[in-house]
Amino acid sequence: MKIAILSRNASLYSTRRLLAAAEARGHEVTIIDALKCYMNINDSKPSIHYQGRELDRFDAVIPRIGATVTFYGTAVLRQFEMMGCYSLNHSAAISRSRDKLRSLQILSGQGVGMPITGFACKPDDVPDLIDMVGGAPLVIKLLEGTQGIGVVLAETRKAAESVLEAFMGLKANIMVQEFIEEANGADIRCFVLGDKVIAAMKRQAREGEFRSNLHRGGEAQLIRISPEERKTAIASARAMGLSVAGVDLLRSKRGPLVMEVNSSPGLEGIELATGQDVADLMIQYIEKHAGKKRKTRERG
Ligand code: ADP
Repeated sequence: MKIAILSRNASLYSTRRLLAAAEARGHEVTIIDALKCYMNINDSKPSIHYQGRELDRFDAVIPRIGATVTFYGTAVLRQFEMMGCYSLNHSAAISRSRDKLRSLQILSGQGVGMPITGFACKPDDVPDLIDMVGGAPLVIKLLEGTQGIGVVLAETRKAAESVLEAFMGLKANIMVQEFIEEANGADIRCFVLGDKVIAAMKRQAREGEFRSNLHRGGEAQLIRISPEERKTAIASARAMGLSVAGVDLLRSKRGPLVMEVNSSPGLEGIELATGQDVADLMIQYIEKHAGKKRKTRERG
C-alpha cells in the first residue's frame, strides 16, 4: 500500500517506529508535514499540493496531529478523506477528542465513569461550582492544556477560589474536577486499537507530585488491567469514534474513571514499558481496514 504519515517531525520516536513498521511490512511510506500542505477544494477533483507539486493518491494516512496544529492538521486530513484515502483516525473524531469538555460530555452520555466535573465562566458561580464537585481538595484544568501543564491541585477552598478567579479573569476556559485522592498519583494509559486494548501501562507521579505525566517526571511500568478497565477504555474510544486512542484512567473506589481520550497517543512510553510492538499492530490494523466502509458513520 501507499501510506502517508501525517507528522511534523520525522525524527520523533512514534513517527520513526510507524515508518519502520510499515516499510518492514512492504509498504511505500511518505512522511508529510500537514503545515506544508495546501489544498484545492472543488467538487470534481479535490487535491493536496505539497512543496510545489500535487500529491499522488495514498491508500491510507496515519494522522499524528499535535495539539497545537489541530485546526490546520484536521483540515488537511479531511482533504485526504475527501480524496477517498482511508484515515486510521477520522478527522471528525480527532477534532471531537481535542476538546476536553466536549469529550467528557460525550463520554457521560455513554455512561462512562469520570471524575465529577464542573464548568462555568462567571466568578459569581465559583462557590457553587466548588460545592458541586464536593469541595476542596479539587483539581482545576485549563481546557487548552496538555502534558499536565495547566492542571492544578487546589488543596483548600480558598486556594481554589483564588486560582479560579484568576483564570476566569484571564478569560481562560477551565474545568473543575473532583480530586481522586485514592489514585495515589498514578493513572493508567490504555492503548486502544479497534475494539482491543493492545497495551496498558501504569504511570506513577514522582514524589510530591499528583500528575503522573511522563513529561512531568512520572515513571511508567507494565500493568495488568481489570476486565472493567478494559471495557471502559474500549467504550471510551468507541464513543469518541477513534480507532486508535490512548485512554487515561484513574483507579477509584467506584471503579475506573476516564480523564481523557487522546487521539495521537505516543508510542515511546507504551512500547518501552510493555515491550509490545504497537507500531506493527497499527500497520496490521490498516491492512485489514483500509478500503473498507467504516462501521460508524462520520461527517466532516
Ligand atoms: P493533560 O491532558 O495535560 O495530561 P490530565 O487531565 O491528563 O491533563 O491530568 C494530568 C495528570 O494529573 C493525570 O495524568 C493524573 O495523574 C492527574 N490528575 C488529573 N485529574 C485528576 C483528578 N481529577 N484526580 C486525581 N488526579 C488527577
